[in-house]
Amino acid sequence: MTDYRFVILGGGMVAGYAAKELVEQGLKRGELGIVSSDTALPYERPPLSKGFLAGKEDEASTLINDAGFYQSHGIDVHLGIEIDRLDPTTKRLHARTGEEFSYEKLLAATGARVRTLRLPGADLDDLFYLRSLDDSKRIRAAAAQAEQAAVVGAGFIGMEVASVLAEKGVKTTMLFPEERVWQRFFTPEMSAFFERYYEGHGVSLLRGQSLKAFEGDGKLSAVVVESGQRLPVQMAVAGIGVAPATELFQSAGVAVENGVVTNEYLETSVHDIYAAGDVASYWDVLYKKRRRVEHWDNAVEQGKHAARLLAGQRAPFVHVPYFFSDVFDLSYEFWGDVDGSDQVIYRGDVSRGAFSVWWLRDERTIAAFVMNRPDEERELAPQLIAEQQPLPKALLAEAHTGRS
Ligand code: NAP
Repeated sequence: MTDYRFVILGGGMVAGYAAKELVEQGLKRGELGIVSSDTALPYERPPLSKGFLAGKEDEASTLINDAGFYQSHGIDVHLGIEIDRLDPTTKRLHARTGEEFSYEKLLAATGARVRTLRLPGADLDDLFYLRSLDDSKRIRAAAAQAEQAAVVGAGFIGMEVASVLAEKGVKTTMLFPEERVWQRFFTPEMSAFFERYYEGHGVSLLRGQSLKAFEGDGKLSAVVVESGQRLPVQMAVAGIGVAPATELFQSAGVAVENGVVTNEYLETSVHDIYAAGDVASYWDVLYKKRRRVEHWDNAVEQGKHAARLLAGQRAPFVHVPYFFSDVFDLSYEFWGDVDGSDQVIYRGDVSRGAFSVWWLRDERTIAAFVMNRPDEERELAPQLIAEQQPLPKALLAEAHTGRS
């Protein structure tokens, strides 16, 4: 058995950033162990569906800290280890292969797993899901050979992967059950802009369509949609969401409800167990509601915050939710939560792809989207949301309203 003061279970972005912060907080050699089922050191995930997938970034540049960092600070990273039992009474983690790790404080950072399709032919080669570095490598290799591809789902993975495939010259069709892309949080105007942009860059969109089957003889050769339409393809990528990896905690008696439940201090229902990143359903003090966020920024910020909590600085996690995305040559950012908005205000020109969108509730700013706009709007967005302020008069002066 290996004894640690701190164990981080899960070797993703939370682990990479928490390790960095713990070092800043004066971590001593041998105090921290990271236990991960992945086979690579903690890496950044955004490049997996953007620069790395496109072949513009290499593997080394995706690492959060290089191997020398862990060695020089005496941090053990146990890779390729599946923990199948957590005992909060003895404070031990038991691996399938017999290893045991004990902790004084545990950080649950197991992240999420991809949802998969259960359809005829879903076990064929060349149907991919994207979560890990290895997944991204496989998709990259397949894209180098493919002439036609299907992308299933119009969420983050779908939109980013379709743009990379199209840029590589692969004839790409996106199919999704919704009536428009990014329906969950985009306004109709925003979806219309992105749909035009994608179609203008050669991506075909099959809206309101569900998949019926994959066809092929060992290798994928076509996807069949509910309408009966059959698309010849050599590869498909499905981005249909993820589910938090909570089973281990649930069976150990830790409260779980759409993620490992924490308070605003990222403390779970069990003493000395904290949770952060995709797996954590935390109490958001700004919006006064429970929230689970599956974005890079949340893993980074909660990873760093959890490290300070482990080190003994008890402070609530107070943060405006944020994400960014890069598709084709566009880059945009989004802050906040649109739920419950009663007014939407636009600035700039949606049709030209240089615009910002501001969601208000009772005249207070609750969310903002900014793309190709002056930096002052980017800076203002998180500030207005955190302080629950109305839009300043100067911003309203050049604004127009749209459908929410
Ligand atoms: P996602 O953003 O949640 O989108 C999944 C989409 O697939 C949703 O629109 C969903 O519709 C739809 N869907 C569900 N079942 C489907 C089915 N059977 N067939 C077709 N479509 C289906 O998830 P994702 O794109 O898979 O991304 C995975 C995770 O990575 C997410 O947590 C995401 O936030 C993260 N990620 C983030 C970024 C970024 O921040 N830029 C980039 C890449 C990935 P419903 O909503 O109706 O279920």
